[in-house]
Amino acid sequence: MPELRQDYFTNRLVLVSRERLARPSEFTKQNSSLKEANHARPKRDENCPFCPGNEDKTPPAELVLVSKNNTLLKLADSDNERVTDWTVRYFPNKYPAVSLDSEPKYTDPPLQSEPAFGYHHVLIVTPDHSATFGTIPVEQWVDILAILQDRVRWLYSKKTVGYVSVFINSGNEAGASFSHPHLQTLTLTRLPPLIEEEARSMHNSMAELSMCSMCRVLSLETNSERKIISTESFLAFAPWAPTHAYEFWIFPKKHETSFLKVGQKEIQDLAVMLRVMMGALSSALSDPPFNLSFHISSEKKMTKQIHWHIEVYPQIVKWAGLERGNGVYINPVPPEEAAQILGAAARKQMAQIIGIT
Ligand SMILES: [Zn+2]
Ligand SMILES: [Zn+2]
Repeated sequence: MPELRQDYFTNRLVLVSRERLARPSEFTKQNSSLKEANHARPKRDENCPFCPGNEDKTPPAELVLVSKNNTLLKLADSDNERVTDWTVRYFPNKYPAVSLDSEPKYTDPPLQSEPAFGYHHVLIVTPDHSATFGTIPVEQWVDILAILQDRVRWLYSKKTVGYVSVFINSGNEAGASFSHPHLQTLTLTRLPPLIEEEARSMHNSMAELSMCSMCRVLSLETNSERKIISTESFLAFAPWAPTHAYEFWIFPKKHETSFLKVGQKEIQDLAVMLRVMMGALSSALSDPPFNLSFHISSEKKMTKQIHWHIEVYPQIVKWAGLERGNGVYINPVPPEEAAQILGAAARKQMAQIIGIT
């Protein structure tokens, strides 16, 4: 059963999870050369467990969105019947990195460990196997974000959940096992170290300057040379010290701690921003592998809050010895240059979207 271990000296956390070894992947060596030769991907792939028609290859979905006569229905699979004709599908990961079945065993530092209690789910964001995050339309993003809010709220209602991690692995080099576009949620019993550090920074800044440290950064970057594009409610920019080439962040412009309290109008606006930025990333850099991570506040009482946002890490330059061994990152693309390139691509995407709607 999975176990959450903390490093001897630092706050680094490691999920020791043997179950993950059993996980299949479409990116085996033989397969990947085949894939490269065959560029055009079909709308449906019979070997893909995330494709329509293969619903029985995954655990039953706890939430399925079905569009009928212009209304969206929220349905769920049962053990022996799967919902078909869906647009978005949310189910437990078949090879979870956390589990509720762990033995309640705790140990103290320096050999600190605790059971990795939690829930690990997959959200299939489109039935179209040939789609990429760069092609998913705005309306589909609205549905994805609505389901995400619904599920994050549900996960925070669970006793063992201290934090809900929401992330995307897109492409083999970014850690995905399947190319069909999907997103994951994984819960932890406490805040992960990066969120904890951001929360501490915001807490200190509130105490010392009566101002959120992230709002301060937003006011600095709104008209900086690192700005990429803005919508009514969101700003996309390349951060000052990005650990990845072409990394960018998307922040709500006004101070907002809870992702769950984002209203319908703002969700619509975020959907436009995600469509634009994912399209820009894919057109400017030819569909690179990437990871995306939501940084949200915990919804549990008495936890420190952050100004929630989204961070995107294109996987173009590999981390090597200096990065892994020291936490010092070489970035060959100055963020000011990345912002120019992504900004030009984003403005083109925005013009297309405005042209369509
Ligand atoms: Zn598929
Ligand atoms: Zn703020």
